[in-house]
Amino acid sequence: MHEMSYVIRFVNMAIETAQSQNAKSVESLVVEVGEMTSVLPMYLHKYYPQAIKNTILEGSQLKTIVVKSKVECLSCHAHYHPERSHQYLCPVCQSAMGRILEGRDVRLKEVHMTIDD
Ligand SMILES: [Zn+2]
Repeated sequence: MHEMSYVIRFVNMAIETAQSQNAKSVESLVVEVGEMTSVLPMYLHKYYPQAIKNTILEGSQLKTIVVKSKVECLSCHAHYHPERSHQYLCPVCQSAMGRILEGRDVRLKEVHMTIDD
């Protein structure tokens, strides 16, 4: 159920953004979900309607984009996508030592809103 805490976090961020821009309404949010997080987008969509109830976000759409993970090999500095079929090792030099560059965050990417003029 940790997805609910992510939903509350990015909903609060979007509300702050909307307020700071004096938005009249919010049409949609775009949220990136890293492949390496254990967050399932379907749960974000499930909890979203209750999280935005009675806020400026009420009625807005949630869009999620899954971000593929990217690892930098610490031995040969190749960037690769870890594959289960390759035991998540570097495909170039077979090293297991890697640094995660992308894919472990849940991030509010965009807030689409109507701004009063
Ligand atoms: Zn390597």
